[in-house]
Amino acid sequence: EALLTRIGALDPQLNSFITVTADQARAQAQAADARRAAGESGALLGAPIAHKDLFCTQGVRTSCASKILDNFVAPYDATVVEKLAAAGCVSLGKLNMDEFAMGSANESSHYGPVRNPWNTECVPGGSSGGSAAAVAARLIPAATGTDTGGSIRQPAALTNLTGLKPTYGRVSRWGMIAYASSLDQGGPLARSAEDCALLLGAMAGFDPKDSTCVDQPVEDYLAALNQPLAGLRIGLPREYFGAGLDPRLSDAVMACVEELKKLGATIKEIGLPNMQHAIPAYYVIAPAEASSNLSRFDGVRFGYRCENPQNLEDLYKRSRGEGFGAEVKRRIMVGTYALSAGYYDAYYLKAQKIRRLIRSDFIAAFQEVDLILGPTTPNPAWKLGEKSSDPVAAYLEDIYTITANLAGIPGLSMPAGFVDGLPVGVQLLAPYFQEGRLLNVAHQYQ
Ligand code: GLN
Repeated sequence: EALLTRIGALDPQLNSFITVTADQARAQAQAADARRAAGESGALLGAPIAHKDLFCTQGVRTSCASKILDNFVAPYDATVVEKLAAAGCVSLGKLNMDEFAMGSANESSHYGPVRNPWNTECVPGGSSGGSAAAVAARLIPAATGTDTGGSIRQPAALTNLTGLKPTYGRVSRWGMIAYASSLDQGGPLARSAEDCALLLGAMAGFDPKDSTCVDQPVEDYLAALNQPLAGLRIGLPREYFGAGLDPRLSDAVMACVEELKKLGATIKEIGLPNMQHAIPAYYVIAPAEASSNLSRFDGVRFGYRCENPQNLEDLYKRSRGEGFGAEVKRRIMVGTYALSAGYYDAYYLKAQKIRRLIRSDFIAAFQEVDLILGPTTPNPAWKLGEKSSDPVAAYLEDIYTITANLAGIPGLSMPAGFVDGLPVGVQLLAPYFQEGRLLNVAHQYQ
């Protein structure tokens, strides 16, 4: 009740929620109380959370922050939603995001931009900007997000939170509306590594309904938190510290290095030579997959349909033309172009080859070090509207995060202080399925 009141008081300014589900939350809270009274225990029993509005929720609108799904009520729960509910979490509603998770600023939502609670003139990052703003403003203690190219880690960094993108396949994508299926991964945003560990423990695990979900036991992430760091080898990629990085962010990473050394870690310079190709490769692969995934929104099967269609083609054209926002249309056009006959080899195939090289870079680096450390973003949060007319400027903000998605490895962003009153984050990357190691270091550092 206290959080619902707080949402009512503060969210009109932040716009982090698309839908608040007060009645459902009360019912879930009562059910959690009953389970506790019956002798059950568990840190998540009765814990308030909310979901990014691309996780399907049965009986509750799931909009993907798009006009085209404004009236879509999902007939089933996403696996992540189901698992967190089974652990006893109480969902207060659905969180704002960039339309179809395309963006780094949460400015492309049909429901309006989200504001950064640390400075409401600034963006909270994206695409899980509603998740980040709601947790940072203490409207909820933790939230779900998804990360296709940085959308958990980048907003976590810009709002002083811990955000974890798990290994591709660690968390089921069933019921998570697809953006780029080979890159998308759900994960938690919270105020501490410990809270992320609790959430991830409940979210992760095999799901036969997602063919890319990996059948591997889920580690005890809470137990991993207190491992000593003595002897841990941390790599600093030299490519991360070149032009484009705000020197104050570089200082934040170096301050973190000093702390980790005190905790017993050793530091080594490493190379990720193909990183320079990551943005062009990502911005071919992600739109290509998106253009294919978003073809299902045709005005017939789901959501918005234009008025008085004259024939089938008119129905498709106007429903999609009126239903999708500008950034989504841009991605569909780029992706369709990259996949067309005659261009496929030049763009899509080439991007896939770069993807393999980036993966090989990480595999080689992890022969030498246990973890990789660097900035999460090149800059702190920017002013609302500042990059909205220049998509490439916004795409460049993803430089440090997208490589983890291209390779499929896990990554975590943790708070690393403030620059001009705005929070900044540092990112840790680990080998496949080493989420426990990421949470361990983040917990010790905090
Ligand atoms: N900013 C990136 C994009 O727009 C990443 C978004 C995401 O991770 N969902 O594609």
